[in-house]
Amino acid sequence: MAEEYVIDEVREEREIQERYEELMAACRDLKPLTRQEEAQILRAFQLAKTAHAGTRRKSGEPYIFHPLAVALIAVKEVGLGPIAVVCALLHDVVEDTEITLEELRMLFGDRVATIVDGVTKIDDVMVMQQAESKQAENYRKILLSMCNDAYVIFLKLCDRLHNMRTLGSMKDTKKLIIASETSYLYIPLAHRLGLYAIKTELEELVMRYTNPEKYAEIEAKIAAKSSVAEKLEECLYAPVRQMLDAAGYQYTVKTRIKSVYSCWKKIENKHVDFDEIYDLFAMRIILHGVPREHEKEECFKVYALIADKFTPNPTRFRDWINHPKNNGYESLQATVMTPEGVWVEVQIRTERMDTIAEKGMAAHFLYKEAHPEEQVENSPVEEWLQQIRTSLENSDKSALDLVEEFKESLYTKEIYLFTPQGENIVLPSRSTVLDFAFAIHSDLGLHCIGAKVNARPVAVGYRLHTGDQVQVLTSKKTLPQPDWIEQCHTPRAKDAIKDFLRQQKKKYAIEGKKKLEGYLSGLHLMNNPQNFGQLKRFFNQKSDVDLYYDLAVGAITEHQVAECFGKARPAPQLFFLDPYKDLFNGAALTGKSQEKTRTSRPFLLDKEYENYPTETAPCCKPVPGDQVVGIVQEGKIMVHRTNCKEAMDEMANHENHTVRAKWRPGEQLSLLTGIALTAIDSKGLLQEITRHISEELDLNMRAITLEASEGVARGIIMLYVEDVESLNGLIEKLKSIDGVEDVHRI
Ligand code: MN
Repeated sequence: MAEEYVIDEVREEREIQERYEELMAACRDLKPLTRQEEAQILRAFQLAKTAHAGTRRKSGEPYIFHPLAVALIAVKEVGLGPIAVVCALLHDVVEDTEITLEELRMLFGDRVATIVDGVTKIDDVMVMQQAESKQAENYRKILLSMCNDAYVIFLKLCDRLHNMRTLGSMKDTKKLIIASETSYLYIPLAHRLGLYAIKTELEELVMRYTNPEKYAEIEAKIAAKSSVAEKLEECLYAPVRQMLDAAGYQYTVKTRIKSVYSCWKKIENKHVDFDEIYDLFAMRIILHGVPREHEKEECFKVYALIADKFTPNPTRFRDWINHPKNNGYESLQATVMTPEGVWVEVQIRTERMDTIAEKGMAAHFLYKEAHPEEQVENSPVEEWLQQIRTSLENSDKSALDLVEEFKESLYTKEIYLFTPQGENIVLPSRSTVLDFAFAIHSDLGLHCIGAKVNARPVAVGYRLHTGDQVQVLTSKKTLPQPDWIEQCHTPRAKDAIKDFLRQQKKKYAIEGKKKLEGYLSGLHLMNNPQNFGQLKRFFNQKSDVDLYYDLAVGAITEHQVAECFGKARPAPQLFFLDPYKDLFNGAALTGKSQEKTRTSRPFLLDKEYENYPTETAPCCKPVPGDQVVGIVQEGKIMVHRTNCKEAMDEMANHENHTVRAKWRPGEQLSLLTGIALTAIDSKGLLQEITRHISEELDLNMRAITLEASEGVARGIIMLYVEDVESLNGLIEKLKSIDGVEDVHRI
């Protein structure tokens, strides 16, 4: 329970005045104020104080404490200037008092009114979000008003931070609602704006309220490390200071222990123990007085000094100076080991970089505010807001999609790639070879068969990384496949592929129409609008083209057409479902995949089920040689591996629906299956893996993804296998590669 608040108006009045003075001092500290600015802040303060007079917060304090605190956060912790202070002081008056937006506009001008309006409306977004309202139009307007001025977002974050800090006096359910809103929207926003200190604090607060037990547990573990932390002073921090002094640097050193929340996240996401956290301890070296043109050089020199004396971990070196993050973050980051064997993260940066890292893009806005006459280049955040505005203005998406899309844009990072000629191409992270090809030219994308990434051949869906040099490989014969849409990331590539497939579909429509007319005449029916409409409804097809296309590629058979009109003869042998249908995502367009299409099924089933359509289960991807079992699901037989967990659950619940199944002997089949692999990341790892796969003649690799973090590579290899022996052989071979720790089927 919060302490009882005792009302004492005289003391309160004094305290309000003191807090106002503190705010003004912080403003002047940041930059000298003009007389007009001083006067406007005072007017805003007086108006807010009068308007909120008599209202109290849940804690019992006068309401004006809140706007004053929000304004102080804006100045001190975000580094925003007088305009933000005025807006912060006024941010709740329109919502909570008699004052109208029009009055604010008259008293303080357009910009202040617009910002306050935006801040007020974000609350509405959240309310609608909870109600899962479908009012896309409203959402769009609100998101647009948020994006109109970056100050709206900055101030809302300050507001939210203060509310989270003072959450203690709220009811428990209200606490949880506010905490979940915070993690849904405000933490991503803080991240996108580069306000890391605020982001970290919000994450800590959210965890404290939503996961109090885990919070206490990790907090205790961190506290238990305090003796290690004390020793670091002696064995690392002091020696580093000596080195820097000897080299004549002006600097500040800051040290920190990782926050409870980020420890927890690392433990959860990376499946590591608390003791395996590399960056529990960190030291930051901030160099003073380095001229802009020598920043890079000096940071690297300091790194060299430290790496000379303390062993750095080569896999944990990050150069954010040559490749700044798109929120503007620049820094050199390394992890070194102390003589006692403790890993410590070391960040090296200049004062300028530190301001950007700590205050994010706010630093940029303050500069703009202070130099209104100067034409300052747009910051990445402004570019981002501009992009969102454009996409919102041209969007017909549903309300939830809009918010999701907006949220996704908060996390978009960029990767920097090179053409063989050394030209720089910037793409969103998670981009693949296809994205790269389409970014250069649509023709290159449409005929792409893969690429050489750093001279190594990879498939179209290969995910690129910063620094990769990419040479796109093409073939005149190759055309986009439907599954390409999943194998790329950028709207540009996706749209181009969809467009191509749509065109392709239209061509097929002619063939489909011919087939349909043949089928219908066999049933003594006409292809008239009435019959056609009945078919569309029966097969649940949206457009004529879609229906014709399915007919053309055989996804709708003559038998099914007959069924639609109630004229199906009992001829179930026509009712085979192609077992590869799902594996190829309907890619039966090309000659290559048609080879794989067979009319006979790969399984032998109990007699009574012989004529049921069968499919291999996507959850366990059985291959010939595996023990299998069939389960009747929605009119077809799903064939699972007998040890598949999903199959077991299914069998436990529907005993009578199980069918004995066996692989048809002697069938030459290729089925898609997957292998998961964990290994110590090393240079030749991928080559080793691919070499072993290509050595097994009857294995055909479809896709490989390999991601490394903290020196450990985790990969998924999708391949076609003909039987379980060659698959097991491959698994054994992969296990024998140096550094490979685990290989198993998925
Ligand atoms: Mn507020």
